Amino acid sequence: MAALVLEKVKELSLRDITVEESLGPHDVRIAIHTVGVCGSDVHYYQHGAIGPFVVNKPMILGHEASGTIIEVGEQVGALRVGDRVCMEPGIPNPNSQATRLGLYNLDPAVVFWATPPVHGILRPTVVHPANFTFKLPDNISFAEGAMVEPLAVGMHAANKARIKPGDVAVVVGAGPIGMVTALSALAGGCSQVILTDVEQPKLDLGATLGAITPVNISEQNLVEVVSGLTDGWGADIVFECSGNARAAAGVFEPLCPAGCVVYVGMPGAPVPYNVVAAQIKEARVEHVFRYAHVYPRALSLMGSGRLNVKPLITDKFTFEESIEAFDFASHMPPASVKAQIELPQ
Ligand code: ZN
Repeated sequence: MAALVLEKVKELSLRDITVEESLGPHDVRIAIHTVGVCGSDVHYYQHGAIGPFVVNKPMILGHEASGTIIEVGEQVGALRVGDRVCMEPGIPNPNSQATRLGLYNLDPAVVFWATPPVHGILRPTVVHPANFTFKLPDNISFAEGAMVEPLAVGMHAANKARIKPGDVAVVVGAGPIGMVTALSALAGGCSQVILTDVEQPKLDLGATLGAITPVNISEQNLVEVVSGLTDGWGADIVFECSGNARAAAGVFEPLCPAGCVVYVGMPGAPVPYNVVAAQIKEARVEHVFRYAHVYPRALSLMGSGRLNVKPLITDKFTFEESIEAFDFASHMPPASVKAQIELPQ
C-alpha cells in the first residue's frame, strides 16, 4: 500500500510499503480519511529521534486520525462497517500493572503509532482494537475527528488540574496543545483563560475561541496582567504548554497561593525548577503524558457544541502533497495552528 514513509532523518517518501496486519476477533479495519500533522511527527522528520525513541529503519508517520470502518472482527460488539470513527493511537498491554491500575498511558509496553519502531497511519487502511476506536457524533467532521488526539492531551491536563467552577487559568504557549488546553480548561469550568505566546497571529486566533485574554509576552508582563485580572491574587492554575525552558522556569510567578501547575509541553532539554517559588505558595504540581480515558468525553463535548476545534484547523493538504505538508509544518507560519492531510476515499 502507498504510505508516507520516513526513510531516515530529513528524508520522506510517498511509496509502496508492506505492513503485515491481520484482523483479530476484537479488531476493526479502518479506511483512513484525515490525519493531523503533529509536532512529534515533524520532530522525527527533522531530528530522527525524541528522547529514547530513535528512527533506525523506515517508519510510516502520522498518529492523529479519523476514518471509516470497513471490516469488523467477529467479537466486536458496538462498531459496524460504515461507522465514522477516530482512534486512540496508543495500545497498552491490557494485562499490565499500569493498565490494571487505570494508568494505561503509562504502560511501558504501550504500542503507539509513529513512535519507533511502530508504523503510523499515513496510509490507506489500518487494523486497530475496537476498544480504542470511537464513533464520531453525526455533526462532527472527519477533520474534527482527527483533532481528538491532540484535544485529548488538553482534556487530560484539565483533569489533572482538578478545575473548580470559576477558576482562572493561565495557558503558556498558543501552539496546538496550548489551544486545546485552553478550550478544555473553559469546558472544564474555568471562568477565563489567559493565553500567552510571542506570536501575535496565534494569540489573535486564541482570543476568538471563548473567554480568552491573549498576552503577548514579548510586549506585556504576564504577572502584571494576571494580577490585574485577579485583584492581585494570581491564577488558580498554570498550564505550561510551550515546552520552552524560560517559560517553564517562570510558571510559579503568576500562580495564586496553593494553586496548581500542570506541565503539559515536553521540553527538548531539561528546564529549571524553582523549588522555593513552589514552596512559598504550597503549589500543587502535576504532569501529563499523553492521556487516558478521555476520548468519549472529548467527543461528547464536541458533539454537544460545547467545544469547537474547527478554528484550529488552519491548513489542508492532499495525500499526494504529504511531503509538502511536512515541509510546511517544519516551518509553520505564525498564523497556522494545525495542518491536516486528507486521504483519497
Ligand atoms: Zn499528536
